[in-house]
Amino acid sequence: MRGLMQDVPLTIDTIFRHAEQHHGDVPIVTNNPSGKVRTTYAEWADRTRRLGGVLDTLGISADGRVGTFAWNSARHLELYFAAPCTGRVLHTLNVRLFPEQLTYIANHAEDEVVFVDRTVLPLLWPLIDTMTTVRHVVVMDDGGDNEVPDDPRVLDYETLLADAQPVEFTTTDENAAASMCYTSGTTGNPKGVVYSHRSTVLHTMAVVSPNGFGIGVEDVAMPIVPMFHANAWGIAHAAPASGAAMVFPGAMMQPQALADLIIDEGVTFTAGVPTIFQGALPHLAGRTHRLRKIGCGGSAVPKALSEAYREQVGLPLYQAWGMTETHPVASGGTLSARWADADERTKAERRARAGLPLFGVQARIVDADTLEEQPWDDKATGELQVRGPWCAKDYYRPDAGVELTTPDGWMKTGDVAALDEDGNIRIADRTKDLIKSGGEWISSVDLENAIMSHPAVKEAAVVGIPHPKWDERPLACVVLREGETVTGQEIIDHITPLVAKWWLPEAVEFIDEVPKTSVGKFSKKDLRARFAEYPVT
Ligand code: ADP
Repeated sequence: MRGLMQDVPLTIDTIFRHAEQHHGDVPIVTNNPSGKVRTTYAEWADRTRRLGGVLDTLGISADGRVGTFAWNSARHLELYFAAPCTGRVLHTLNVRLFPEQLTYIANHAEDEVVFVDRTVLPLLWPLIDTMTTVRHVVVMDDGGDNEVPDDPRVLDYETLLADAQPVEFTTTDENAAASMCYTSGTTGNPKGVVYSHRSTVLHTMAVVSPNGFGIGVEDVAMPIVPMFHANAWGIAHAAPASGAAMVFPGAMMQPQALADLIIDEGVTFTAGVPTIFQGALPHLAGRTHRLRKIGCGGSAVPKALSEAYREQVGLPLYQAWGMTETHPVASGGTLSARWADADERTKAERRARAGLPLFGVQARIVDADTLEEQPWDDKATGELQVRGPWCAKDYYRPDAGVELTTPDGWMKTGDVAALDEDGNIRIADRTKDLIKSGGEWISSVDLENAIMSHPAVKEAAVVGIPHPKWDERPLACVVLREGETVTGQEIIDHITPLVAKWWLPEAVEFIDEVPKTSVGKFSKKDLRARFAEYPVT
């Protein structure tokens, strides 16, 4: 017997129409260098339909890749919908990538057009001749005063839009590609993840749910996480799907500007990587705000940082875990009712975990070689593997030898984790960041958390350095808070009661700043290279 319910395709058009029909008066604000630009979902919807017409006029093929090279903005949100709702595939390029990687990615994806913010045009334009499939560069004037090249390929966004006719959105194939995003590729070439309409809609439903980010009609949502970093963690779809107002930081990504925007625009929900919130903390501390949830993830969320937010801003960080390959939100750190009466210390411990898989995602930990499942006892660790309708099964045209899925259909994450008896995830490390000492593994994440609980420490990144006897030993790279002086021995003394003796770092190296990746995470690859010849005893 078959179910007798309507078979309505899960397409991004449905999100678009919902915002257009039910939330037309809801505001959208973009903070450009030239000032704030205010619009509404009604205006956005009209412009998005006309942008669909622009893509037709430009002759973008039926499923052509529409590149963006842009900050978070209302215009970027127009592209987020105009491309997939006309059957094209949105491809967000990371404005902070190295030139060779940008060229590789644009060519690999076969972008036909790139929509670029004027403030970042100087980063893209010198590469344009290396991007062999790009026919048009559409400049979005976000207030930068950079010169716009006089070249037939260069067009102006607003002029195109003013001349365009609105189009109807009629996509029906929920499994068609909607957008793509490349992982940064710490080893080998960047890898393309292709999201479908269906996976986007299902992920949106998970993100708006209370165990996800819980974004609703009363919210003012501000994605600090870039729209080129894993679809802004679903927020750019979740807000229109729920009628939440939106605030975009544009190119104004400095900590003070972000904090002021949060406060001035009454932002209730925001999200980004830990380094963003590390920077914004002194600018938010003690000020009156409307924040009710701060989503944080992309790398381990230090317990000390979350606690500092609880104490100084009034709410802890809400940890989520995921990957570009999981759309990206796969788990969320909502504390279940069982922990409601726990003491603050215990709650802080629980919040330092990646949380429970969101409904729709399954998780397991396995021995990476034998695929044998490991027990859920919070002690055993193994490779975290996930499964679900918004987890990727393959990369776009992968290089030989790159396999994402196990023979029994689970997605390999490359993260090492433990699961407690409920399956609540504790990320121990990325496989490539684990430190192998004397045949045993040391978690750099646990060591960093212990070091960052020292009040003088601002940031800590622990990496493995080669050791003749132990293979690798941990080196703690520590950034102190301004005006603090502490010795390496004092750091070691502080963490001695917190970790196993053989985990204690070989040395503590004080550095001015932890190098960051293109999406603001600690770049351990750079630290490993910098200290590759570190003298050991
Ligand atoms: P990149 O490889 O460019 O960093 P992603 O943003 O897709 O690309 O990174 C996904 C990885 O980020 C995960 O595999 C995991 O190692 C790390 N990560 C994400 N969220 C968390 C978290 N809450 N705790 C620890 N690590 C996390």
